[in-house]
Amino acid sequence: MPFRPKIAADYRTMLWTMVFTPGFVAAQYARPDWVPYLTWFSIYFAIACGVIAHNHNHRPTFAKKWENGFFSNWISIFYGYPVFAWVPTHNLNHHKYVNTPGDATITWRFTNSHNAFVAFTYFFVSAYYQATPIKQYISKAKQTNPSLYRRIIRQYVICFGGQALALVIALALHGFKTGVYVWFFAMGLPAMISLWTLMLFNYDQHVHTDPWSEHDHSRSFVGKLTNFLVFNNGYHAAHHEKPSAHWSTLAEENAKIAPFINPVLQQKSLAWYWFKQYVLALFIPSLGTKQIGRGPWNPPDGKKVSLDTADVEAEESGTNAERFRVPA
Ligand SMILES: [Zn+2]
Repeated sequence: MPFRPKIAADYRTMLWTMVFTPGFVAAQYARPDWVPYLTWFSIYFAIACGVIAHNHNHRPTFAKKWENGFFSNWISIFYGYPVFAWVPTHNLNHHKYVNTPGDATITWRFTNSHNAFVAFTYFFVSAYYQATPIKQYISKAKQTNPSLYRRIIRQYVICFGGQALALVIALALHGFKTGVYVWFFAMGLPAMISLWTLMLFNYDQHVHTDPWSEHDHSRSFVGKLTNFLVFNNGYHAAHHEKPSAHWSTLAEENAKIAPFINPVLQQKSLAWYWFKQYVLALFIPSLGTKQIGRGPWNPPDGKKVSLDTADVEAEESGTNAERFRVPA
């Protein structure tokens, strides 16, 4: 039978991406009057497609290459961007440099202050700087790896073509005004919010952490509900220390290292942390995060740092880059 996941926990991944995600879109297409109630679900499921894309790029969900390729293309449509882009920006870059110089997604590029303005605009800074490794990866694939290059182009066509087709179907079903309305709230807006939210997750997982430390390099969110909703993407320290571990094992991996982690980096609920950081800390500053350790711009070897993004290679496999370490 095709599409049998390698790990049984991924039946839930399939239920989320192949049933609920398209199901809530279809319901809004069938009943535009339900859009105000159902768009929230589509926003959540688009975010779920993003965290699932992250898991899938580290550890492909299915046994066969074509199944994994099909799955990547499918979730790209709802996530709103071709998910191969995670490989150059996240797997091969962020995992190696972990918020230190060389990482395209550093949280401290213009300021190390942590407030709602910096967090909410981080998407634009991060997206701008991620364009460099993405372009480099595509041009290296074009030169040295034609089959990878073809898959990348195909994914761009399917992702944006899929969104365009969804718009055409909405227009055909409901005419211009209602068609645009239905597409926007069922497909377009959820994808935009998903991209923005995934970058905010990355920001919150690293801002004010200590990348030079053995275990304090990431902020984890360890609550059960948070991790149920985001397929264990809350266990970020454990994920960085074992990027090839299946997402379903990350609670156990986190339990092994939790005693060695600064307790402020083991937050329970993501929603409570956001409220505390972006609302309460405005009135009670001591509730906000503080830089732990010497700061990512200040390596223990005392070398001068550059904010340029490190080069990436267009490799097919080996997408679990080792953490780069500076001898203390
Ligand atoms: Zn990762």
